[in-house]
Amino acid sequence: MPTLLARNADVVVTMDDGRRELPDAGLFVRDGIIEQVGPTEKLPWDADVVLDLTGQILLPGFVNTHHHLDQTLTRALPAGQDINLFPWLRAHYEIWARRTPEASRLCTLVGLAELAASGCTTVFDHTYIFKNGSRLDDQISAAGEIGVRFHASRGSMSLGESQGGLPPDSCVEDEAEILDDSRRVIETYHDASRGSMTRIVLAPCSPFSVTPELLRETAELARAYGVGLHTHLCETFDEERYTLTRFRQRPVAWMETMGWLGDDVWFAHAIHVDDDEIRQFARTGVGVAHCPCSNMRLASGIAPVKKYLAASVRVGIGVDGSASNDASNILLEARQAMLLARLRIGLLPPEGPRTLLSTSDPLRRGEWMTAREALEIATRGGASVLGRSDIGALAPGMCADLFSIDLNTVDYAGALNDPVAATVFCAPQKARYTVIDGRVVVENGRVTTVEMAPVMEAHNRFSRGLAGARVAGSP
Ligand SMILES: [Zn+2]
Repeated sequence: MPTLLARNADVVVTMDDGRRELPDAGLFVRDGIIEQVGPTEKLPWDADVVLDLTGQILLPGFVNTHHHLDQTLTRALPAGQDINLFPWLRAHYEIWARRTPEASRLCTLVGLAELAASGCTTVFDHTYIFKNGSRLDDQISAAGEIGVRFHASRGSMSLGESQGGLPPDSCVEDEAEILDDSRRVIETYHDASRGSMTRIVLAPCSPFSVTPELLRETAELARAYGVGLHTHLCETFDEERYTLTRFRQRPVAWMETMGWLGDDVWFAHAIHVDDDEIRQFARTGVGVAHCPCSNMRLASGIAPVKKYLAASVRVGIGVDGSASNDASNILLEARQAMLLARLRIGLLPPEGPRTLLSTSDPLRRGEWMTAREALEIATRGGASVLGRSDIGALAPGMCADLFSIDLNTVDYAGALNDPVAATVFCAPQKARYTVIDGRVVVENGRVTTVEMAPVMEAHNRFSRGLAGARVAGSP
């Protein structure tokens, strides 16, 4: 059974139940599972792979709870740069629908390589357009090439424009085929076991792109197989107007009638909620994927993350798709989560009778997100959102998913009185090492498992071809 020893880290951020931060420490791994975490002198002396982490900080691998890897093909698309969600989606749908199986492989490799280099070790991807022979299998095999722990969604869209949905009819699928393929991928790939590298999630795209019947049937199917459920919700006022106009209900109430509130469900964004809906999430166990960069990029709003945490709602970080981020850098996302939570304090008056309190007043202390909180929701929080108890912390018995960052850089100079906070406060750095399932996947900020130069070249060729076709017909 292969072993790995990571030693001499300046500090190890365990995120274990005691949230211990250990100086001059490391860990020992056997067969993908952490056996020991502690001071370097108490660890074994040797292993099949030995990483000397002198001058580095070691953290648990980040968990990305919302992404659309296919969107790496349409980053910074001119037609989608300066508009909000609905017109932005309309600018992209037909381009995404032209993705081929080979393009699916390439975009998955590109997105996962960038994520792994930013410390991400588990990725949930929400792909919901399957045209041109594209199948979830293309992405699952690409994730295997890189070696990232992968939760893949069999997403869906079935409500075209002619039926009152947002996507063009050419981009939606037949519902019977969606459900058949959902069953197929679950039976072929879903691994519920501890330490699993591949899980399947069912994920209709949004209330405005699928029918009520598909929402209900998808929930029934997911529960019959014990797989997770995911969709976008409460992302924009346009979406709220849509469900109010069409169903006479706010989005959360509408999803409740669909059988979609439960501890096997998490929603991306969840920005436009009131206090009752936050309590409803807490009561029913619904989780949230917070995607701050996308929410700023599309002017969607600011999710009440500190309120969610105060109500014990499960919250993870998601980078969201690369057409609305346009990065797959989860350390950057954790930093933005902290900053955006703070911006919210400045924009909103204190609640209740405490008017005109300074944002630094001790009574408002609970509204501030700290660097360590940002790290926690990016690790333990994400693991909880994905329903996993085997990732998100460095402790014996947990999966060996971890990454290190070099502290002796210009970017961190002057911040080493608190290197843990520096990882969030200072400019996001690439991982020196990322280890997933006990295997080194990133070294010096680059993936070691796949030769990326030809992948990027082919990816850029596909990207130019897809966007070019669209731009030619656009104003
Ligand atoms: Zn999304």
